[in-house]
Amino acid sequence: MNTPIKALAATTIDTFSSQIRGEIVMPSGSNYDEERKLYNGMMNKLPGMIVKCVDVADVMACVNFGRENKLLISVRCGGHNVGGLGLCNDGLAIDLSGIKFVRTHVSTKTVCVGGGNLWGEVDHATHPFGLAVPAGIVSTTGVGGLTLGGGVGYLSRKYGLTIDNLLEADMVLADGSFVTVNAEENADLFWAIRGGGGNFGIVVSFKFQAHEVKNVFAGPTLWPIEKTEEIMEWYHSFLHNSPDELNGFIATMVVPGAPFPEHLHNKQFCAIVWCYSGDMNKAKETFKPILAKNPIFDHLDEMPYPRVQSLFDELLPSGMQWYWKADFFTELGPEARAQHLKFGSTIPTPLSQMHLYPISGAAGKVGNEETPWAYRDAKYAGVIGGADPDPVNVEKMTKWCKEYWESLHPYSCGGAYSNFMMDEGQERVKTSYKHNYDRLTKIKAQYDPENLFRVNQNIKPAV
Ligand SMILES: Cc1cc2nc3c(=O)[nH]c(=O)nc-3n(C[C@H](O)[C@H](O)[C@H](O)COP(=O)(O)OP(=O)(O)OC[C@H]3O[C@@H](n4cnc5c(N)ncnc54)[C@H](O)[C@@H]3O)c2cc1C
Repeated sequence: MNTPIKALAATTIDTFSSQIRGEIVMPSGSNYDEERKLYNGMMNKLPGMIVKCVDVADVMACVNFGRENKLLISVRCGGHNVGGLGLCNDGLAIDLSGIKFVRTHVSTKTVCVGGGNLWGEVDHATHPFGLAVPAGIVSTTGVGGLTLGGGVGYLSRKYGLTIDNLLEADMVLADGSFVTVNAEENADLFWAIRGGGGNFGIVVSFKFQAHEVKNVFAGPTLWPIEKTEEIMEWYHSFLHNSPDELNGFIATMVVPGAPFPEHLHNKQFCAIVWCYSGDMNKAKETFKPILAKNPIFDHLDEMPYPRVQSLFDELLPSGMQWYWKADFFTELGPEARAQHLKFGSTIPTPLSQMHLYPISGAAGKVGNEETPWAYRDAKYAGVIGGADPDPVNVEKMTKWCKEYWESLHPYSCGGAYSNFMMDEGQERVKTSYKHNYDRLTKIKAQYDPENLFRVNQNIKPAV
């Protein structure tokens, strides 16, 4: 049973405050409502206290304060989690957004990043050196949540998931201690945080392997929704037989407006958003078979890597209503393709979409037990996302997501990528970690036996 912050004595809070260099935001504070905003506007969490940490000492003090007073603890980096897991009700919200730094080490092609950074900040700092760390496709996403869950994006086929490029992390554990984890030191913890989420402690610093990526050839190609089945069948065999430099996620979507030409607005499409990270001299040749499929629209061009990473930022501002359902898939068979056509033709709001992110190439070469990410042999991490600025549309977009998901689930692998899940219960978490779940529960029991870090896709400590 947790103690609500409001039940604590004033002297207890005063003693804690004296240990904090960052800002403490209480419900009575004038900036409380601003500070408790999450990316998903549907999530209305009311923490008892938000601590905007600025250094590791702040994080350690928070963890000790939370544990000693039996508070519910949440940890927020970018606040992008669609399930709203960056904040909790009544408890202590540890905000890492003040712990930001990006240090690019050119000679080793490694990058050290703060526990509160956003991916756009990492891309900005590495790009001048011609380097990039594989991440997701939206630059406002937090490094913390995305990395600890796995991290799938445009460079996954060439360089693996974000966790495949994690070399080391500095963490504050549930007992308030500070540890460094890597392949040699605390190797069990290092294994667990590469997909097991924020279950094992608070990461205050990440060290990544970066790769030589300067410009990419990227952009969308669109086909009328009626062509969904044909394009999906072709895409499945084409992409997974292409060089790993070529990536592209396939979607059913609506063209919401500018910058697309007006005649496409509010129509439904089967889309592929491509990103080729190989030799730019070979890009045009690489895209020939794609353009031979006669997309109704394409907007492919060479661009700096940070540009492709931020293509969707404007379209998807913080504060919209979001509802997600997800699954892994190995195939895109005829029955599944028919469902994509059916539900792609009835998209309920202009920003609602279905995405299938490829996990072949380098991401698929890692063994199913090498990290907690248990579905390396799947070909796609899929997500059906309802999105709209207006709460009035929540019901219809949620219904569409659920029905679309139910129609596809029989053709899925059974589990989902944890970062694409909302609050779906313990069984779903277990299924999503599959054979790795037991090992994760044992590591959890060793490092967080009281389940202090449980506002996440929770791994229960083994008894
Ligand atoms: C528009 C959009 C696009 C997305 N695109 C992609 C994509 O392309 N690829 C992809 O893989 N994912 C993608 N995601 C999913 C994303 O990875 C998750 O939402 C992720 O949880 C966001 O991380 P965050 O730090 O912003 O989240 P937060 O809400 O801040 O935190 C999420 C969870 O991570 C934990 N956590 C965060 N930071 C730390 C830390 N430093 N130490 C310990 N625990 C921590 C929190 O406790 C919480 O449980 C996308 C999400 C959105 C909304």
